[in-house]
Amino acid sequence: MHGLLSLNNLNTPNTKTESTMQLTNRSKVVVKHDLNWLEKLYLPAIFSGLAITIKHLFKKSATVRYPEEKREIASVYRGQHVLKRDDKGRENCTACGLCAVACPAEAISIEAAERKKGEENLYREEKYAAKYEINMLRCIYCGLCEDACPKDAIYLSDRIVPTAFTRGNFIYGKDILVEGIDASGRVDVSKRKKNYEMEGSPKQPLINK
Ligand code: SF4
Ligand code: SF4
Repeated sequence: MHGLLSLNNLNTPNTKTESTMQLTNRSKVVVKHDLNWLEKLYLPAIFSGLAITIKHLFKKSATVRYPEEKREIASVYRGQHVLKRDDKGRENCTACGLCAVACPAEAISIEAAERKKGEENLYREEKYAAKYEINMLRCIYCGLCEDACPKDAIYLSDRIVPTAFTRGNFIYGKDILVEGIDASGRVDVSKRKKNYEMEGSPKQPLINK
């Protein structure tokens, strides 16, 4: 039907009056013509293709040679998660599970445990996450876990998640997620924190004000 829909033909095939309606004006009739002798050589087409390739050789490359070369990332970049500690080195997470509930990808799994006597220097609250895992293959880096956390415990840092060759290597446990106790192990999340008002609980994004 050459890109035209004959409504009358569809509804009343025997009618003699034909009216056609064009659904869009995007249809393009392609007419195949015989090649002339120059076109049959294919050389003009080959040289025009080569010219385009050579032109791109002198253009600035759109890619970088990662990891040797690193591209500057946005201040709001959401990368690898970090489970934060407080000033005394205790884990902030109280295993409330709000991050797991908020996660649209169901990437977080938590097992809670009760803090024992003598562990006050390890965990800030009476309950803590004995197991905290994030499946980084499921994660879509939306940051909803960070938004949901009332304990200032989880943040998405500006670290890029490294590549790996097996699925199991993308299940990040506490050994990877919890930041170190000493200054060298701490992960700076100040760029992400500045979007929140840190006084009071739960934290509220300042942009809502
Ligand atoms: S960033 Fe989003 S998808 Fe990833 S763990 Fe947090 S809530 Fe889930
Ligand atoms: S990271 Fe925050 S929201 Fe998630 S379980 Fe720990 S305290 Fe709760």
